[in-house]
Amino acid sequence: MSALIAEVRACQGCGACLLTCPEHAIRPLGGTLLVHPERCTGCGECVEVCPVDAIVLVSAASNPNPEPTS
Ligand code: SF4
Ligand code: SF4
Repeated sequence: MSALIAEVRACQGCGACLLTCPEHAIRPLGGTLLVHPERCTGCGECVEVCPVDAIVLVSAASNPNPEPTS
């Protein structure tokens, strides 16, 4: 798992990140988007393409398996 993982916040539903993610890590789920931690490499391409800055990279240690942060 990458040290960073994408986290979707105030999504506007444009779909750009789903099409952009090279790992196909972002999937629609029940009207929102789910980032699969086992697929996300933390590359940040989804962050760059999102027109409303709805995706951020966060520490994978905090999502979903807590680990000590350095
Ligand atoms: S950070 Fe990269 S791998 Fe992870 S969801 Fe975004 S585009 Fe996909
Ligand atoms: S690019 Fe941003 S607004 Fe568009 S679907 Fe992804 S998170 Fe939502």
